[in-house]
Amino acid sequence: MANVIVVGGGPAGLSAALFAQKNGLETTVFDTDQTWLHKAHLFNYPGIGSQDGTAFLETLRRQAEGFGVERVDAEVSDVSESGEGFTVTADGEDYDGDYVVLATGANRDLADTLGCEFDGDIVDVDVTMETSIEGAYATGAMVRAEEWQAVISAGDGAAAALNILSTEKGENYHDFDVPADADAVFGGMAGE
Ligand SMILES: Cc1cc2nc3c(=O)[nH]c(=O)nc-3n(C[C@H](O)[C@H](O)[C@H](O)COP(=O)(O)OP(=O)(O)OC[C@H]3O[C@@H](n4cnc5c(N)ncnc54)[C@H](O)[C@@H]3O)c2cc1C
Repeated sequence: MANVIVVGGGPAGLSAALFAQKNGLETTVFDTDQTWLHKAHLFNYPGIGSQDGTAFLETLRRQAEGFGVERVDAEVSDVSESGEGFTVTADGEDYDGDYVVLATGANRDLADTLGCEFDGDIVDVDVTMETSIEGAYATGAMVRAEEWQAVISAGDGAAAALNILSTEKGENYHDFDVPADADAVFGGMAGE
């Protein structure tokens, strides 16, 4: 099974990790906990009436971990292509991934280090969030000059993960669940 390394644990990175791990890809998130969510109060996240950004982050972290995402509190200092995949260096240790998702907010240094093409100041990606380097994705604030909103970053992360899943499965992949899936998990208690 392919594995995915995500750099950055804000809405973009955690959303990518949630979608990837939920659908069977082994996913690790490296993060230094400097997400802008800590400064935010969300009134504009659909489905969330009003919530403190840090509280939202805690829920999102638990949601991702609930599906098995591994979160590592460490700064990634380097990322490079290696063989078929990528090597990420964090706290002096090397980690190998088949795919890498960069989600480092407004900091675009790692995309530069990896050799991704830029469009002016922002990382150049296609609609699936793939960079000029196959298998390397960039998501959230780092690919946008202005649209810096949590829901947009989360959407970028989801798009990246779904494209990785489509690549792995060889056909367009849809992460669709139905009420019976919730019944199977919660024994008919879903939504109560
Ligand atoms: C004052 C303020 C108020 C805001 N209010 C709202 C609001 O009301 N509604 C809304 O939708 N948005 C709001 N935002 C914007 C919102 O918080 C951002 O759009 C969103 O957090 C961006 O998500 P992201 O995942 O792209 O990046 P971030 O949330 O910035 O996450 C990036 C993560 O990557 C980590 N990281 C960076 N480099 C490395 C590295 N080398 N190794 C490991 N980890 C690394 C950082 O520590 C951070 O945790 C607000 C922002 C601010 C500043």
